[in-house]
Amino acid sequence: MSWKVVIGLEVHSELSTNSKCFCSCKNKFGGEPNTNCCPVCTGMPGALPVLNQKAVEYAIRMGLAVGCKINQYSVFERKNYYYPDLPKAYQISQLEFPLCVGGGLEIEVDGKKKFINLDRIHLEEDAGKLIHDVSGTLVDYNRGGVPLIEIVSKPDISSAEEAVAYLEKLRSTLLYVGVSDCKMQEGSLRCDVNLSLHKEGEPFGTRTEMKNLNSFRAVLRAIKYEAKRQAEVLDKGGKIIQETRRWDDEEGKTYSMRTKEDSQDYRYFPDPDLIPIKITDEYINKIKADLPKLANERIEDYMNMGLSLKDAELLTNQRKISDYFDEIIKQFNQPKFVCNWICGEVFKKLNTETYEDANIELSAKQMANLLQLYHSGTINQAVARQLLDEIWGTDLIPENIVKEKGLAQISDEKGLEEILTKIVNENPKAVAELKAGNQKTMAFFIGQTMKATNGKANPKLVGEILNKIIKEC
Ligand code: ADP
Ligand code: MG
Ligand code: ZN
Repeated sequence: MSWKVVIGLEVHSELSTNSKCFCSCKNKFGGEPNTNCCPVCTGMPGALPVLNQKAVEYAIRMGLAVGCKINQYSVFERKNYYYPDLPKAYQISQLEFPLCVGGGLEIEVDGKKKFINLDRIHLEEDAGKLIHDVSGTLVDYNRGGVPLIEIVSKPDISSAEEAVAYLEKLRSTLLYVGVSDCKMQEGSLRCDVNLSLHKEGEPFGTRTEMKNLNSFRAVLRAIKYEAKRQAEVLDKGGKIIQETRRWDDEEGKTYSMRTKEDSQDYRYFPDPDLIPIKITDEYINKIKADLPKLANERIEDYMNMGLSLKDAELLTNQRKISDYFDEIIKQFNQPKFVCNWICGEVFKKLNTETYEDANIELSAKQMANLLQLYHSGTINQAVARQLLDEIWGTDLIPENIVKEKGLAQISDEKGLEEILTKIVNENPKAVAELKAGNQKTMAFFIGQTMKATNGKANPKLVGEILNKIIKEC
């Protein structure tokens, strides 16, 4: 019987509050090393932490979005370990009374739906960053004290593909509720993978924990590698050691870093500098009422507007796109027409490589204006596309350009008839072909008319007039 893979994920997500978790330093990525810290986040003796209420609110917001129960009594504890990125030699975290417990997410892989349960979501502070260079190791405390939520799944995940689907869903939800910018390259979304193997019906095996996974692709590859490695060890009659392993993305292998501590090794105890948090029903209800609509609800809304499930999913993959769509249809209520344009022309404009940071360089107002001109027949499709290129990244108003440059399509029947009559007379061979039923020749006539009108003829009208002329001659 073959091995079954058991995976549990620990996802760290930095919260996008203005200030850090326990001091008033700015919470922002980068900057000159050690310029964004103070006695509290560098652990100076006597400095006292003060909890950032926004961080608590964000953690609860995410908890509610994924159906967690909110613990109305919650405690910060000191997780003690000695490492230079942690100046106090302990991290303020939560163990026994985390802010959120339970909940979960539904994922879909190959058309199969599955519910992944969460263990908990707790609030903690980030550590500083070690920078290794030729002169040795340097430390930057700018990141120290930034608020984080750790989202811990139950060991419910059974394949690399499920793990990635779970991460995508989690990331999308974090972005929808607006508590984190989720940039893996900047470390505001990080993920550790716990993996073990067992045989069906037998207890779970010993797990390893993998770190240094900097992209979803790395997660996918690391899981496949580690599952294979463990299977080989076990098949030879060997034992898996509970340890932390580092993923090397270039080599595509995991390496042992250290044997993994059990939680008692951290000597957790309640932080005497921080009193327990008491959360009222009122506070939870207020956060609940402020929750934005999540992807599932939006998909339902879009389908009620007449969009297909596939279209609705495309639009809601990213909150940014969905918000953009909503803004446009407020000004120009043609959902299907707007959706086609976004999923076609706009997606083409967004660099698909860096899709997660897609930057829509055109306001909803400009886009609504452009689509109105196109939909009403003022401009044709070719001009609409050309205009999109022209105004992308600017604040130009399409309507004005159409006026200035005379881009409105020619829907004047008389004028088009004159032009077409001339073309028909000059091309007797093509006329004969069209009469013989060769519809491809139609494209030739439309092309010629476009040439004569600088691409501004109304193609539908051209077709109608041409049919009329041909019939008569
Ligand atoms: P620790 O406190 O040591 O980090 P946790 O109980 O918090 O341990 O679990 C950490 C993660 O490991 C969770 O996501 C959990 O689902 C996962 N996990 C626990 N046991 C196993 C196992 N046998 N195989 C795979 N993952 C596991
Ligand atoms: Mg853990
Ligand atoms: Zn500080």
